Amino acid sequence: MANAFFNVPIAVNEPVKSYAPGSSEREEVLKAYKEMFNSQIDVPLYINGQDVSTGNTRTMSPPHDHKHSVGTYHLAEKKHVEEAISTALEARKSWSQMPWEQRAGIFLKAAELIAGPYRARINAATMIAQSKTIHQAEIDAACELIDFLRFNVQYMTDIYAEQPESTSDAWNRVEYRPLEGFTYAVTPFNFTAIAGNLPSCMALMGNVVVWKPSDSQVFSAKVVMDVFKEAGVPDGVINVVFGDPVMISDTILSHPDFSGLHFTGSTFIFKELWKQIGNNIHNYKTYPRIVGETGGKDFIIAHKSANAKQVATAISRGAFELQGQKCSAASRAYIPDNLWEDVKNYVIEDVNSFKMGSPEDMGNFITAVIHEGSFDKLAKYIDQAKADDDAEIIVGGGYDKSKGYFIEPTVILTTNPKYTTMCTELFGPVITIYVYEADKYSETLQLLDETSEYALTGAVLATDRYAINEATRALENSAGNFYINDKPTGAVVGQQPFGGARASGTNDKAGSAQNLLRWVSPRLIKETFVTPTDYRYPFLG
Ligand code: NAD
Repeated sequence: MANAFFNVPIAVNEPVKSYAPGSSEREEVLKAYKEMFNSQIDVPLYINGQDVSTGNTRTMSPPHDHKHSVGTYHLAEKKHVEEAISTALEARKSWSQMPWEQRAGIFLKAAELIAGPYRARINAATMIAQSKTIHQAEIDAACELIDFLRFNVQYMTDIYAEQPESTSDAWNRVEYRPLEGFTYAVTPFNFTAIAGNLPSCMALMGNVVVWKPSDSQVFSAKVVMDVFKEAGVPDGVINVVFGDPVMISDTILSHPDFSGLHFTGSTFIFKELWKQIGNNIHNYKTYPRIVGETGGKDFIIAHKSANAKQVATAISRGAFELQGQKCSAASRAYIPDNLWEDVKNYVIEDVNSFKMGSPEDMGNFITAVIHEGSFDKLAKYIDQAKADDDAEIIVGGGYDKSKGYFIEPTVILTTNPKYTTMCTELFGPVITIYVYEADKYSETLQLLDETSEYALTGAVLATDRYAINEATRALENSAGNFYINDKPTGAVVGQQPFGGARASGTNDKAGSAQNLLRWVSPRLIKETFVTPTDYRYPFLG
């Protein structure tokens, strides 16, 4: 029986390790990389705490070496998804009654396991599965996931502490119940941290989950599940299924006990899932919560007062780290003509200095894009830009998929501010730049705001404070995360809660209490101490 109000550890961001030559962490991660790269693993489904092999398997290969296999994973049939749902609902009976400090203990332990004994493994798995450099793996799979786990525990207790006023004769209390039913987490390939956060934050709040990771992230999702298991997540609380997303979603979204979707991925898929939930609305026992963080067409705008070298660095880092496969990656830029010559030269110099190849070679800044579908799509847009009169490639433009899915970091210069790659999310190492007349800043802000359906991240670079203020106001609805004199990527949990509006998502801010609030259903309890015994009010005389 809990008989105290416990304080949780104050959440602090996990320090990012350097992996500099000669450091012990570099040695450890390279050792783990080699071992994992040269072994074969078999990844089963995970249902009710049991490994479930279906025999129907698919190969896992690193994007930077796609003929090499690191193992296989099993694909679910409908019956497995149904089993995951019924198992979750059974587990809910105990899990939803588990005291919060016990749930907190599990996920705080998961954070420490990743910070310590699992760090090299989860980073190496992310380097292999998603072709991340060690720095990109460290800030994602280790640090961001640790931060999510720690900060969510703190936010959970902040939420529970939020209580209504009471009077001397009536005590009002709010409890934050988990959703009635089961929840569904659907995660993207690009962040191991998001894959870990979406199911775990719902489970932390007392929910039970069926989690469907991306096919391109199974290898690192397996390490996340190993961590959750070792941390003590009870059987049936988080169940993992892989396979045909349409069949899995159809099975889950048609279930009467479905109570919430926590999605991160592309806009089209999210809208389709939302539509499906709408079509099933009469079958559900409750109104399902729908949270989706989706695509972006993230921008950089420089004012004529900006520093050209700073603008170029924001482009080089913002557009090309992780091959432009961050939802926040800069993919369109508006540069004033007074700065353009300098910005162009600096960016070309940067891009020409990037090394590209396997993440195992830590001198590489650029690695491969995630899969052949993505490679082919990017190659098509690059070829189109080479052919179009209103576009010109000023650096990059090469691609080669003989060994891995390598696309050269590419800068397209366009004379058409509505050129297709100024509007469409490509999700790769390609940025399109439009050079505007330096005195047409206000018009360009308006143009920027009207150019894309998305509103995820964006940045303004300027030294003139009036120009900063003007952009901040004019672009109020153009980005959910707006950066001043910085690149538009690199949000840190607890510091820059992340999410966008318009077609970029429901903006429930991953890594914040706002997000966790979506996974609870408050119950008000009013207790009256002296209960009335006469219905007549004084005014009745
Ligand atoms: P994706 O939409 O292809 O896949 C996301 C998930 O949806 C995967 O698990 C996939 O298997 C699943 N899925 C695919 N088709 C489905 C269907 N018909 N029914 C149900 N599920 C289905 O996205 P991706 O390529 O993995 O990730 C890249 C996208 O995610 C980009 O658009 C990017 O902007 C976005 N993203 C957004 C954020 C954010 O916070 N806003 C963060 C990361 C990624």
